[in-house]
Amino acid sequence: MRPVPSELPCPWHAFSVADVAARLSTDLRDGLPVAEVARRRAHYGSNRLVEARPPGFLHTLALQFADFMVGVLMAAAVLSLLLGELVDFITIIAIVMVNALLGAVQTHRAERSLAALRDLAAPAARVIRAGQLVPVGADELVPGDVVLLEPGDRVPADLRLVETWALEADESPLTGESIPVEKRAAPVLAPPTALGDRRNLLFSSTTVVRGTCRALVVATGMDTELGKVAAMLRPGPRDATPLEGRLSELGRVLVLICLTVCALVVVMGLGRGEAFAPMLLTGVSLAVAAIPEGLPAVVTIALATGVQRMADRRVIIRRLPAVETLGCTTVICTDKTGTLTENRMTLRELHPGGPAELAAGLLCCNARLTAGGRDARGDPTEAALVLAAAASGITREAVEAAYPRAAEIPFEPERRRMTTLHSRRGRGVLDRLLGRDVRHFLVTKGAPDAVLPLCAARQDGDRRVPMDPAARAECLRRAEDLAGRGLRVLAIAYRPLYRTPGGRPEPELERDLCLLALAAIADPPRAEVPEALRVCRRAGVRVLMLTGDHPATARSIAEELGLLERQEAVVTGAELEAMDDRRLARTIRTATVFARVSPADKLRLVRAVRRQGHIVAMTGDGINDAPALKEADIGVAMGQTGTDVAREASAMVLLDDDFTGIVQAILEGRAIYDNIRKFLRYLLACNAGEILVMLGASLLHQPLPLLPVQILWVNLVTDGLPAIALGLGRPDPGVADRPPRPPGESIFARRLGVKIAGRGMLIGLGSLAAFLYGRHAFPADLTLARTMCFATLVLAQLLHAFDCRSEHRSLVETGLLANLPLLAAVSCSALMLLAVIYLPALQPVFRTMPLGLGEWAAVLAAAASSQVLVGIRRLLRHQGWLR
Ligand code: ADP
Ligand code: MG
Repeated sequence: MRPVPSELPCPWHAFSVADVAARLSTDLRDGLPVAEVARRRAHYGSNRLVEARPPGFLHTLALQFADFMVGVLMAAAVLSLLLGELVDFITIIAIVMVNALLGAVQTHRAERSLAALRDLAAPAARVIRAGQLVPVGADELVPGDVVLLEPGDRVPADLRLVETWALEADESPLTGESIPVEKRAAPVLAPPTALGDRRNLLFSSTTVVRGTCRALVVATGMDTELGKVAAMLRPGPRDATPLEGRLSELGRVLVLICLTVCALVVVMGLGRGEAFAPMLLTGVSLAVAAIPEGLPAVVTIALATGVQRMADRRVIIRRLPAVETLGCTTVICTDKTGTLTENRMTLRELHPGGPAELAAGLLCCNARLTAGGRDARGDPTEAALVLAAAASGITREAVEAAYPRAAEIPFEPERRRMTTLHSRRGRGVLDRLLGRDVRHFLVTKGAPDAVLPLCAARQDGDRRVPMDPAARAECLRRAEDLAGRGLRVLAIAYRPLYRTPGGRPEPELERDLCLLALAAIADPPRAEVPEALRVCRRAGVRVLMLTGDHPATARSIAEELGLLERQEAVVTGAELEAMDDRRLARTIRTATVFARVSPADKLRLVRAVRRQGHIVAMTGDGINDAPALKEADIGVAMGQTGTDVAREASAMVLLDDDFTGIVQAILEGRAIYDNIRKFLRYLLACNAGEILVMLGASLLHQPLPLLPVQILWVNLVTDGLPAIALGLGRPDPGVADRPPRPPGESIFARRLGVKIAGRGMLIGLGSLAAFLYGRHAFPADLTLARTMCFATLVLAQLLHAFDCRSEHRSLVETGLLANLPLLAAVSCSALMLLAVIYLPALQPVFRTMPLGLGEWAAVLAAAASSQVLVGIRRLLRHQGWLR
């Protein structure tokens, strides 16, 4: 062993593989025993970076006070103290506290559940423990674990390579160097080698872009090179989503507007010769009335609950702003395999179907049987071969003992084939084909059109005969037939090698192949997809299928799903390539199914569709799909089959790979936006009503119709509870029956602004009328008039809450029970109104008094008037007498 310089604690790159294994007391083949894993887990801890803790509750609470609106309220409290209104001062402070506390609790819970959901999409690792291949969460790895990696995997810890096949890694997260680096197990490097040159190590957070490897975990968590860097980085708080940003902006504008109005009212009053102190109090009350406290918090809560609802359907949002974009989606570009189909592939036919053919196919697979032997992990196409072989009693162990793998040229969607190189060590089922003097051979499997051109011969019984044009044509025809039945076709070929292959390049190896068999694999369409496609059609969302599979397979599946009509054409990748951008733009207006497309074609398609003004959700799973996933408005990655790289490039992850999840998410996105509009409609109309009462009374030279504490109470109880219930409501049944909303649309679009202003006016006028009536009937008793005004305002608002449940359907249509939390919130607010009016302890605080029957009748009439007027208007519109 080389001497270890003291300043380098453990230069793993300077040890041979055997030394590393010895130092970590692990077995290179079988990995760690299970008990030892537990011991090391206890000793080394989780394989995670110690993140800066998310803001604690007190921090969130403090943030509520840093809010501009709360600041204004606090100023109001101080003012009332200066004016000698001690009760007001205490009440305002108390109400602001409760408000802040409620806001903080909700926000804190929302943020916590958002963070927990992000963890659901955390990467996994394939590790060998006690001789078994097991999938574990990447955070469960310990030093000494043996892991397997393939293209698209994120490296889960710092690793010393044991075996590599054409391995290349993208180390840009660590070194900034974006050109992939070749990695090899063999060299033992000098201790001072720079990080970027340690070719026998893989570092946490980098990604495998080509090839495969087996490697030993040497460092986890904060001990990794990334951990050393991350110790200095502190993740900041989450960025606000565009809508959150727009609404807190709106909140600020509203505050400024009403402060101006307040100042105006105060100045006007002073001009009329009113005393300074009461006028100031009026101004303060007005400000309190108009400020929409809950605005940004409710958006966060609405987003968080919507995102939680999606998670219940196994759809994980990785980037919160995507929720807002989802509702605008006009086009879904989806994979076929696994998304529209079940991804449970089974081998249907093998021509010819002997053990040698199956064994050859098995040699060229990376999928493996799971511990039970009844299932297989890895690429589903390969899993079909592995399971079929197992059913015939052919195991990987047996064939690989006879023909160990020496190298691999991995499957890439662009090449649509994969090749493995083997040497001969013992006797096996392939001996019959290979003859005696062959020392090495390779097996290629892939799409027939990608393999047949490389075949110079075909297997005929025990003989290899030249591949004549007639045989080739016959073979392609048979492949076409199988594809036409919706099957995915693989050609399996081999090539005996008489000399050691050495490090010869791909084209040198993949030629003069001998065609061995055609395999046809079935992957039935998912049963729920036709219905989901119908929903898309109703909801104005176009669906395009983009697949690497054969056009005939694509057509057959698309027709079965009802996505394609018989006479419609399937566009192939080759045809796309021949098109200029103009032709492409024309084509995508009508074509639905694209087959044999490469990741580069996908990127070009997404760009073209987006250029036509569409909002595109795009699925992808492979490492080369990352650019297209990033280019799309919403990248959608697969949880089961997708690569880590694809997931990291995406805004959303489908844990079950199921197309239906995308459609659900789009509808959920619309519902969340609807909910935000609903509570805005409620909250702003209520605030407008409050300002109007105050403004109206002041213009009519009346005393204050509502005291600051009363307004605050209305803001907290009457506005707050129902607004939250509206923000959390279930989707309107009609969300799928309308076209997507245009992305640039203002939140007040589609008459929302008009509705808010109109209803605010009605609420304000009703409350003012109740006040004036009280003043007129009982001139001596200001408290009674105020109580009437207060009760009217509260009841009018609570009635309005029911109207806000749906933009399209009235109270009568939705029924009282459509939103139970809202019913609860409204009932609770109504009860609290009675408490404030009737509980002797609360009467002095809120300056209220009990109302008689006659007064209640007036209050109810005034409160219901706005509801009735709106109902009449709706009726007139319905009859066509009003626009
Ligand atoms: P899809 O978009 O349907 O997932 P892929 O790009 O994965 O399509 O596959 C395209 C073609 O490549 C398939 O039709 C099949 O013939 C071939 N193929 C798929 N997976 C493998 C594999 N693991 N090894 C060899 N060939 C494969
Ligand atoms: Mg695929």
